[in-house]
Amino acid sequence: MDDLQLDAFKTDEYAAMVLLVDDQAMIGEAVRRGLANEDNIDFHFCADPHQAIAQAIRIKPTVILQDLVMPGLDGLSLVREYRNHPATKDIPIIVLSTKEDPLIKSAAFAAGANDYLVKLPDNIELVARIRYHSRSYTTLIQRDAAYRALRVSQQQLLDTNLVLQRLMNSDGLTGLSNRRHFDEYLELEWRRALRDQTQLSLLMIDVDYFKSYNDSFGHLEGDEALRKVASAIRDASSRPSDLPARYGGEEFALVLPNTSPGGARLMAEKLRQTVAGMKIPHTFPVEGAYLTISIGLSTLTPQQSTDCRQLISAADKGLYLAKNNGRNQVGIE
Ligand code: GH3
Ligand code: MG
Ligand code: MG
Repeated sequence: MDDLQLDAFKTDEYAAMVLLVDDQAMIGEAVRRGLANEDNIDFHFCADPHQAIAQAIRIKPTVILQDLVMPGLDGLSLVREYRNHPATKDIPIIVLSTKEDPLIKSAAFAAGANDYLVKLPDNIELVARIRYHSRSYTTLIQRDAAYRALRVSQQQLLDTNLVLQRLMNSDGLTGLSNRRHFDEYLELEWRRALRDQTQLSLLMIDVDYFKSYNDSFGHLEGDEALRKVASAIRDASSRPSDLPARYGGEEFALVLPNTSPGGARLMAEKLRQTVAGMKIPHTFPVEGAYLTISIGLSTLTPQQSTDCRQLISAADKGLYLAKNNGRNQVGIE
């Protein structure tokens, strides 16, 4: 059922749409007259049982009155057909029979009928049953639509959460992971490396003479330079498990799980060269200089009773060495 129909149900919550399938026009007329003065009951009559399914699909009844004995087609087979068709499988079916026979009744219910009346039923009873079945069908349709809407909004919520998560984890200026995410990730990888007894490497990266860069070119140019350095660090992280992050200010970090000292050193050296090769003009330490970075490197295989601060502190010491030895280089404690 589409939304338009659902809306129709909402404005007139229990409107009934009756489809009578009976080969006898006289029965059709009698039921039509019986329902004519009823509010909110629309009536359709189908005299050709072979057209019943097509009619039902077209008019979308909320209840089907189905004659059992028709020439050329057994009413029970038709009931089974309604049940097997996706468009009609849930529509309540009231079977109209000529006699009160427990065996026929039982067969009708087994075929999928919801109710059983002997022709021609008293009008009050017929209307009551039509309204009852129609109401339960409408409720079912509304509930299904509500579930569908719920599933859609649940999916939207999940999508929004993903976006929020990404925003929460990333640094506004550079788009790299922020400090919060770096801390979480390093802790996680530290524990994984402890479990698997693998090597975990860390690069701490600091832009050289950045204070004087800001002083010479202004903070906006400084920001732009940080973005360029950040993108070089992002490009250097080749494996999905590598995590480039902005550690704070003009300092960056690169977490390298499962990486040996030799491998990490190679990456650090390449990154250093890449940034120097970008030839971002600087005025310090000499006029005509280019912006460079210094990198501290550490590698550990975690042991019990140690924590990841050891890795950071060792990389810091390497960085200190690199700065002291003249910058634009990789330092290892
Ligand atoms: P060193 O070679 O020893 O690292 O010298 P340095 O000048 O880079 O180091 P210092 O720590 O003295 O200065 C870091 C500068 O980085 C100071 C600060 O203004 C600048 N900075 C930190 N965060 C940002 C930022 O988000 N944008 C800009 N434009 N500058 C920043
Ligand atoms: Mg610096
Ligand atoms: Mg610094």
